[in-house]
Amino acid sequence: MSTPKRSACGMQMFTVDQCTACGHCAYPPRYLCPRCHGAQWKTRRVVRGILQQYTETRGRDAEGAPRTVPLATLRTDAGPLVVARLAGPAVKGASYTLTLQDQALIATPDSP
Ligand SMILES: [Zn+2]
Repeated sequence: MSTPKRSACGMQMFTVDQCTACGHCAYPPRYLCPRCHGAQWKTRRVVRGILQQYTETRGRDAEGAPRTVPLATLRTDAGPLVVARLAGPAVKGASYTLTLQDQALIATPDSP
């Protein structure tokens, strides 16, 4: 199973599980590898993703003020798709750095 690792600056690194038999990466974690049915996993760090799709969720915060949260689907450099909150403009096909902050996956643009 994936467990967050803390970097020196306090942010948590994002990881996925990688099958030790065939190298397939899975997220969320799975009991058996969907490719080879292996059950041995190691942790693989995921650094970047490429933005595939973008949307915004609209709601209200705890005080009732309108709130918009930008969300993106990204293809990680390890293979699996993830959904992350965007910390910058959405550019389809652009590269983003993925980090965990308070259990939330954040995608930060690699170039402004
Ligand atoms: Zn496998």
